[in-house]
Amino acid sequence: MLDLCLGNSKNGKGVFANKNFKRGDSILQFEGKILDDNDIEIDTYEDEYCIQIGKRAYLGPSGKLDDFVNHSCSPNCGIKKTKEKLLLVALRTIKKSEELAFDYSTWADYSTSMKGHLWKMHCNCGSKNCRRIIKDFRYLPAALKKKYIKSGIVPNYILENLRKL
Ligand SMILES: [Zn+2]
Repeated sequence: MLDLCLGNSKNGKGVFANKNFKRGDSILQFEGKILDDNDIEIDTYEDEYCIQIGKRAYLGPSGKLDDFVNHSCSPNCGIKKTKEKLLLVALRTIKKSEELAFDYSTWADYSTSMKGHLWKMHCNCGSKNCRRIIKDFRYLPAALKKKYIKSGIVPNYILENLRKL
């Protein structure tokens, strides 16, 4: 896809825009093998390429660009699920050569899976509201939760679990 390219980011590889995108544009499709709890060990390197897509379901690496989309605490993108696809969509105008990123917490509810494993990731994304420690969606500040839910980028399995809390 010529609209995007792999480049060097702060912490390794990242995906960069090769053109301008408008808010709401679908940029990239996430693909990979569907995995469950038994297939993955969250602390291993390989699983950095996994996205949680259900209570006990994950999307494994595809070997394509979608594996390399990084986290940001001030993301320009989010993941939206359509009927069959998992899409990276622009949350605002994105300029050519900007790095694409989504907030990993928007698709993380590991405490309901991974046998209660508390998922944590250190962040140095450099945004002024960097949370430093990235955890499951439920631990986000209330206002941020609201904002992400309103944007339609929080999956149903997380919303359902929130209602049970
Ligand atoms: Zn951050």
